[in-house]
Amino acid sequence: MDTWLLNDSIERKQLVVIGICSDENSSFKKGTAEAPPLIREALHNGSANLSAECGLSLGNNKRVNDIGDVNIGSGSAAFMKIEEHISQILEQGGLPLTLGGDHAITYPIIKAIAKHHQSFSILHFDAHPDLYDELDGNRLSHACPFARIMESSLASRLIQVGIRTLNGHQKSQVEKFSVETHEMSHFDAQNFNPNLTGPVYISFDIDALDPAFAPGVSHFEPGGLSVRDVLDIIQKIEVPIIGADIVEYNPKHDINGMTAMVAAKLVKEIGGMILKSNPI
Ligand code: MN
Ligand code: MN
Repeated sequence: MDTWLLNDSIERKQLVVIGICSDENSSFKKGTAEAPPLIREALHNGSANLSAECGLSLGNNKRVNDIGDVNIGSGSAAFMKIEEHISQILEQGGLPLTLGGDHAITYPIIKAIAKHHQSFSILHFDAHPDLYDELDGNRLSHACPFARIMESSLASRLIQVGIRTLNGHQKSQVEKFSVETHEMSHFDAQNFNPNLTGPVYISFDIDALDPAFAPGVSHFEPGGLSVRDVLDIIQKIEVPIIGADIVEYNPKHDINGMTAMVAAKLVKEIGGMILKSNPI
């Protein structure tokens, strides 16, 4: 079976896989903290190899480095820890790919990315815009990360796909922050072109997918993207992908581990594209 490197020392342009076990900012159901080991298990269970469709393999590849799960603690200290870990990866020239956690973790990740990259876009896959100014009094809720990111001008563009829950408040946030929100109601995945001109970060909320493909999420929202749709969009990216997160997989709601396999497929395909788009 293909294996991959388990090592703490990071080399330049290595894909650095890191699990973030967090769900304390989930508003509805907990469980995403349990995701990282289960995504790894699906990836290495022997049912498939580690070859990505883009032609690169993540197996037996010195450019792949899984540094395991990080213990981030809780509260505001947890956000500091996430930012620190990602900063350390970037300082050593690594390309971070985070597994698990709820979507709240994307805010501290992007804070670290913004310290290292002057200008970059975010391609955000989600059923939800996650642009709430606050939810239930929590401004760091998993419903809010992109409001925090955009009000601090951390990213030059925010491009959202898979969206099917846009309400009045979030629509005004879209306008306020000039977010490029592509709603599912009139989305054509095959002809979608975000016209990226510089580096891009991918933030992937599993609930962007239709629950038929990925039932293991906290917020079921039917009418979503297919796995093929998202792979086609990601494989067409021609600019450097500087990092990615795969968030909101909730094993408590999975059926026969099918969502874990979808998350593992995303690790393979997004990871492969990160390597391909950053040649040595
Ligand atoms: Mn989300
Ligand atoms: Mn979502």
